[in-house]
Amino acid sequence: MTHNFLKEIVTLFLRMDQYAIDIYQNFSLSSDNRELKKFWEQMMQEESRHVVFWKDLLKLVKDNGIPQIFHHPDITLKELKENFNKILALSKKSSASTGISESFVLAFRLEFYMLHPALEQLWHYYGIIRKDAYTPGQAYGHHLQGFIGAMRKFGKASIELEALGETVERMWVYTKSMAQQTNIDELTGILNRRGLFDTMTSSAYLAKRNTFNSAVLMIDIDHFKQVNDTFGHQKGDIVLKQVADIIRTNIRTSDIFGRFGGEEFLIFFPQVEQESIHPLAEKIRLSIQEGMRHSVPVTVSIGCATAKIAGIVEDEIHELVKQADTHMYAAKSMGRNKAVC
Ligand code: GH3
Ligand code: MG
Ligand code: MG
Repeated sequence: MTHNFLKEIVTLFLRMDQYAIDIYQNFSLSSDNRELKKFWEQMMQEESRHVVFWKDLLKLVKDNGIPQIFHHPDITLKELKENFNKILALSKKSSASTGISESFVLAFRLEFYMLHPALEQLWHYYGIIRKDAYTPGQAYGHHLQGFIGAMRKFGKASIELEALGETVERMWVYTKSMAQQTNIDELTGILNRRGLFDTMTSSAYLAKRNTFNSAVLMIDIDHFKQVNDTFGHQKGDIVLKQVADIIRTNIRTSDIFGRFGGEEFLIFFPQVEQESIHPLAEKIRLSIQEGMRHSVPVTVSIGCATAKIAGIVEDEIHELVKQADTHMYAAKSMGRNKAVC
């Protein structure tokens, strides 16, 4: 049921971008100025790349590769449907030959309707799942600036039009930071607990489909309260950032890493050999011990759990996390600075 919402949401974005291609093509066809024609063609090409992206995302959604990330998917869908209808109306207008200023107003309205917060949330998740693939988010700011630049270039930059362009651009910045705030831990810049679970779920679905062996590491800084008590809370914050950085350099980009709680970190390895998980945990433990030697010399206790996810993904993830947590506490009771698998 919820899954259908996501499929419909992505399908709507795909169709919106298909209309965007049509609209920019119409502008290009009705431009006499060769350079302006080229500009609209370029906008069209950028929208075509978005379409390729949405199609791949749709495939991921159908394969359960993206979790249900919207808190009220029904509301999101309703809002997007309204925006879609507005874009449909714009597309009809764009086929009648329009003046340059009018085309820019229409283009800004089009981009404005696309800029729903759901857009960046989906781009963000895609970036996590397909680490090295192109995501439109990287180039979107540039895409929007292209309009403002072109308006100026073709001498159509009225105060109203510039303000409109800047508003759309500013909206993109807000949309982006809003989407990030829900998933990213502000202090360390890594995933927060919510981002961690959402992303792990997606990654675990893919692992299940490929029958990979997966693992979870729970990493807790030893006697961290003493760090705060001795050096102050601010220094404690710096230590958290440093430990997060050391862990990051020890894992692959496809591994999912986040802050589970105060001084606890979690890593999900979607694909890892069962025998290599303990050496891996040891490697992380030792690099923290070594890397922190000249800062505040802290150590960590690590608990591991591995499984081949085959059943209900969400339940099995919770079970893995619980086991890793139990093993982490075992490491604490064995004297800390240990990895227990
Ligand atoms: P143990 O070895 O048993 O894990 O001992 P501990 O002192 O690390 O564990 P405990 O759970 O008693 O204390 C965790 C401390 O982490 C307490 C809390 O103030 C601190 N902490 C949690 N979040 C933050 C943070 O964001 N910044 C700082 N500086 N400290 C934090
Ligand atoms: Mg703790
Ligand atoms: Mg601790």
